[in-house]
Amino acid sequence: MASISFDDHFKDLFDNINDLIHFLKIDGTIELVNPAWLNTLGYTLDEVTGKSIFSFIHPDHIDDYKLIRDRTMLYQKSNEIKTIFLAKDGSHVFLQGQLGCSIKNGIPVYTRSVLRNDSEKRKAEKLVQDRDRRINTLFKSGPDAIIIINEKQEILEWNPKAEQIFGYDAEEIKGKLISEIIIPVQYREAHKKGMAHFMKTGEGPVLNTTIEITALHKTGKEFFINLSISSVKVGEGWLFIAFLSDITKRKQTEEALMKKETELLKSKILEEKRDEFVSIASHELKTPLTTIKAYTQLALVHLSSNKIEKVKDFLIKSDSHIAKLNRLISELLDVSKIHAGKLALNLEEIKLETFLRSVADNIQPTLYDHEIILKKNEPALIKGDVMRLEQVIINLFTNAAKYSPGENKIILNSDLDGNEVIISIQDFGIGIPEGHLEKIFTRFYRVDEIGTNFNGLGIGLYISAEIIKQHNGRIWVKSVPGEGSIFFLALPLI
Ligand code: ADP
Repeated sequence: MASISFDDHFKDLFDNINDLIHFLKIDGTIELVNPAWLNTLGYTLDEVTGKSIFSFIHPDHIDDYKLIRDRTMLYQKSNEIKTIFLAKDGSHVFLQGQLGCSIKNGIPVYTRSVLRNDSEKRKAEKLVQDRDRRINTLFKSGPDAIIIINEKQEILEWNPKAEQIFGYDAEEIKGKLISEIIIPVQYREAHKKGMAHFMKTGEGPVLNTTIEITALHKTGKEFFINLSISSVKVGEGWLFIAFLSDITKRKQTEEALMKKETELLKSKILEEKRDEFVSIASHELKTPLTTIKAYTQLALVHLSSNKIEKVKDFLIKSDSHIAKLNRLISELLDVSKIHAGKLALNLEEIKLETFLRSVADNIQPTLYDHEIILKKNEPALIKGDVMRLEQVIINLFTNAAKYSPGENKIILNSDLDGNEVIISIQDFGIGIPEGHLEKIFTRFYRVDEIGTNFNGLGIGLYISAEIIKQHNGRIWVKSVPGEGSIFFLALPLI
C-alpha cells in the first residue's frame, strides 16, 4: 500500500478544510487560496490569483488589516484578526482567525491567514447587541418607570422615569427596601404576605398581570399607578421587575367623568321624582277641591229649600276640606322656600310643657280614631318659632294617625337629657323598614311598599327636618315594621 506523504496530507487538508486559507506575498498579492476561500466568497481561482488582497477587503478594514499584518511580520508572531471581506455578490462576509507569516532566512516571505466565516456568529452578536441597546433605551428613556428588586426586596435598579415619578434619585434609593419607600402603609402587610406566599409556591396574585394601586411619592403624597410585576429566576434566587406608570391624570379624568355621570343620574332621578310629585300633587289638590265643590252644590240645593241646618253642616265639612287644601298649598310653598333658602324663623322663648299640651289639645279633635296620651311632659324652656314647631308636631301626629289604621293611641313624651329636651311621638302602626329610616326625611321620599295605600306627597318630614335643623335640633326615627314607630325631636334648652 502506497504511503501517503506529508504533502498529500497537507493538500487534502488544504482542499477540504472549511476554513479560508490564503497565502500572500509581502505586498499583499494573492499567491494561493484554498477552495473554501473561493466557495465562501464566490470567486474562481483565476479571478483572485495575482490580485491584491486589498481589493477583497472592506475599505473600512484595510488599515486594520495592514496594521496587524505589519505587526505580525515585525514580531514574527501570529496575531488574531477580525475583518470583513467582500464577496463577489457584493455581500459582506465576517471573517475571524489568525494571521501569520512564513520566514525564510530570518525574513518574512509570505503572510498567511486561516480564517473562519464568522457571519452567523456576528449576526447573533449583533442581535444580542441590538437587544441590549433596545433594553437600555427602554430602561433609560422608555415611558414606564422600571424598578428591579431582589427577593430581599432591596432595590437594585431604578430608571430615570422612576426618579421622575417617585422623586428619588437612583443613587439615593439603591439598596433600600421597596416596602419602606414606595408602598403605602396600608398595603405593606399584604405585600409581605404576598412575597412569603410567592417564595413558598412560586405564585403571586399581582404577578404577570396589571393592577391599579396607589404608591408613595418622596413627598409622602399617595398617587395612582398602573403596576405589572414579572419574576425572573437568576441562579438560585429571584429578581422581580416592576413596570409602573403614573395614572393620576387618567384617574382624575375618570373620576370627573364618574362624578358627572352620578350627577346626571341624580338629576335624572330627581326629575323623575319631580314628575311623579307633580302628578301626585295635582291629585292631592284635586281631591279636596272636588269634595268642596260637591258640598257647595249640596249647600246651594238645600239653601233653596231653606234647610239651614243641612246647609250649615255642608259648609262646616267644606271648611275642613278648605283647611286641608290650605295646608297642602302651604307645604308646597314651604318646599320652595326651603329650596330658595328663605324659610325664616320668628324666634321667641317657649315654655315647652304648655306649648305641647296646647298643640295636643288642638289637634285631638281632628284625630277621630286616635287618642293622644301625654305620658311625660317635663318643664323646659326653649327658643323657637311657635308656628313652625307646631307645624312639625302636627305633621308627626297626622302621620302617626295616618300610618296606624285600626289602632287607637299615640303617645307623646317630653323629657330632659343634658342640655336638650327630647320630644317623642309614638304610634303602633305599620312601621318603617330599616333601609328607609333616614331617607324619609328627604324631599319627595315615600316608602314604596306602602305608597299606594296612603295619600301623601312625601314632603311633610322633609319640611319638619328643615325646621328642626334651623332650630339647631335633631330629628330621627326608631321603628319596627308591623309594630310601630317613634319619632324623636331633640331641641336645645335655653
Ligand atoms: P307623606 O305625605 O307621604 O306622609 P312624609 O314626608 O310625612 O310624607 O313622610 C314620608 C314617608 O315616611 C311616608 O310616605 C311614609 O312612607 C313614611 N312615614 C312617615 N311617618 C310614618 C309613620 N308614623 N309610620 C310609618 N311610616 C311613616
